[in-house]
Amino acid sequence: MASTARKKSTPKAVDSPFKNFTPYKPKKNEPYMSEAQMEHFREILQKWRQELMEEVDRTVHHMRDEAANFPDPADRATQEEEFSIELRTRDRERKLIKKIDQTIDRIDQEDFGYCDTCGIEIGLRRLEARPTATQCIDCKSLDEIKEKQLHGPLHAGSLLAATASYLDARSRGDSWLLRIDDLDHFRIIEGAESAILRSLEAHGLQWDGPVLRQSERIPAYEAALAQLGEDDRLFYCNCSRKALRELPIYPGTCRSQRRPREDCALRVRVDDAEIAFTDLIVGPQQERLGEAVGDFIVRRRDGLIAYQLATAVDDGEASISRVIRGGDLLDNTARQIFLMEALQLTVPSYGHLATLVYPDGAKLSKQSHAPGLDDASASANLADTLRRLGLNPPAGLSGAEPAELLSWATGVFDLSALSAVDVIYRH
Ligand SMILES: [Zn+2]
Ligand SMILES: [Zn+2]
Repeated sequence: MASTARKKSTPKAVDSPFKNFTPYKPKKNEPYMSEAQMEHFREILQKWRQELMEEVDRTVHHMRDEAANFPDPADRATQEEEFSIELRTRDRERKLIKKIDQTIDRIDQEDFGYCDTCGIEIGLRRLEARPTATQCIDCKSLDEIKEKQLHGPLHAGSLLAATASYLDARSRGDSWLLRIDDLDHFRIIEGAESAILRSLEAHGLQWDGPVLRQSERIPAYEAALAQLGEDDRLFYCNCSRKALRELPIYPGTCRSQRRPREDCALRVRVDDAEIAFTDLIVGPQQERLGEAVGDFIVRRRDGLIAYQLATAVDDGEASISRVIRGGDLLDNTARQIFLMEALQLTVPSYGHLATLVYPDGAKLSKQSHAPGLDDASASANLADTLRRLGLNPPAGLSGAEPAELLSWATGVFDLSALSAVDVIYRH
């Protein structure tokens, strides 16, 4: 039998862009940013600057050599592309050099090593890793969080679903309705709704009529629950989460508890229901609820209406013809259709989009911290989204306003041409 040993990894001394210095060891009682420490950082910065200058020189020389020696004209495009990458690298290096110069100036003025925001010491080790840092690690992280929040609440996956649903409605001459699923009020962040609306508008996705909110529809959901209760489909479940954790589906323990009881969740009996539907994109679907999910919760123990029930009631409105949404919701659909049928509501047609995944297969979602889209680059975001839907905006539309892109896309969009295969997200 062979055995393997894991190599011990040696910890890196400092995570620094350059390695040609010895970490500074302050003497006993040496004050922070003593003359010697200032000198230490000045040296690091100057060495770094020198390296960057040499790199810039190399880039310039390289570009001159290439330009002087014209290859086949067919290679010109490639060459120009390479040049533009090098130009960008050079630009980055120039900016860095400027920042280094500013930092050296600050050392000269003995205004170095303290956080610009809160005034505390940035610290020797952090400065050795980032000699141009002007903030302590806490203030820096806080700023980064704030900046993330400034970026819109939509990520590439939610924009994809919204755009496809919008184009489907517009290309069929239907209205496009917007609903905020805000039942789980504990998860609602102040201002989240207005941020979503702003972001949709920035991307040209203008909805029809008033915005619907699930939080304002509780009476409709309670009425649906009452109807299911009258039809003797509900029961009161007080199984603990712990008791159910190990089980794949709910085993029906409390099915006989038909009378209202305190501190219970409400579940709906699925019996031997079998739901079949044909998804507009994914194709025929079939699910035996008893085997796939079991009796499921329609009102939580804390009184909150379950998402499945609320969504079934809302989407079951006679005026809703099509629900186009993210592929991650496909496995909710059978439960929602089951409830719609039990409540004698109108079942709409469903289309579940391909899921946007990272190259490693992980789904893009809020949970996986998909980056928020910047409304300031709405046109570019939208063009990316259209390409993910298989639509390639013509060259004439490059840089066009969102409304123009959408109006073009409405003319060529065809939901039935969409594929259900995962789309790889590359940024
Ligand atoms: Zn600070
Ligand atoms: Zn139970």
